[in-house]
Amino acid sequence: MIEIRGLTKSFRQHTVLDHIDLTINKGEVVAVIGSSGAGKSTLLRTINLLEIPDEGIIKFGDLEVDMAKRTKALTLELRKNTAMVFQQFNLFRQKTAIENVMEGLIVVKKMPKEKALHIAKMQLDRVGLSDRIHHYPKQLSGGQQQRVAIARALAMQPKILLFDEPTSALDPELVGEVLDTIRKAAEEGNTMLLVSHEMSFVRKVATRVLFLDQGAIVEDGTPEEVFLNPRSDRTKKFLTNYH
Ligand code: ATP
Ligand code: MG
Repeated sequence: MIEIRGLTKSFRQHTVLDHIDLTINKGEVVAVIGSSGAGKSTLLRTINLLEIPDEGIIKFGDLEVDMAKRTKALTLELRKNTAMVFQQFNLFRQKTAIENVMEGLIVVKKMPKEKALHIAKMQLDRVGLSDRIHHYPKQLSGGQQQRVAIARALAMQPKILLFDEPTSALDPELVGEVLDTIRKAAEEGNTMLLVSHEMSFVRKVATRVLFLDQGAIVEDGTPEEVFLNPRSDRTKKFLTNYH
């Protein structure tokens, strides 16, 4: 359902993504692991065109965007298929939790306010925040803020949810509640691409694991295959740091 062909991105002379091919099917929970600087964030950011790839093709169902023929309209259309959850939450600080969740529904999906309100309430309830809907981000803990960000992403019903290290800015005692929320979203059948250093979580929740190294996917398999029987020495070396 999402198909990536030849995705390439360089910053000056440095090729961060080198002709990446990747197909992600509906319902897959794909974890991306790799060293710092391997290009994990860049991969996520190019998939929703927050970062424009130098070349490549990104396909969501019938919508195909070839970077060589990209237009503003196609870029906006492609972005509607994705929703991203960032390390630093990225909530609108001047908006309450419910307003944060409603924003994209009203502005991007052109939904009537009443309907957006209904969906936002439901999503905040799902992430366990029905008693915090009128709180501003600064009145919420990091874990609660991140759950608002997840509710906001889920409310958009994207074809794929992109998570970039969603727990690494959290105090350790708040990591669990956010991972539980992500696990629940995964179990409900949402398609996800997740960058995470939480290896035990990745092992439990991911249906597929990619190891990114020097601009290429050098490992692509089930968690068992990648963690227990990695093909490349680079992956073995990387994983030993986590045991
Ligand atoms: P980390 O685990 O530290 O988050 P990462 O795998 O997410 O690392 P990226 O953030 O994708 O890595 O960065 C990959 C490489 O691209 C790094 O060398 C980084 O310095 C470089 N890079 C990323 N964004 C930019 C940018 N906007 N301008 C210049 N270089 C960049
Ligand atoms: Mg990163």
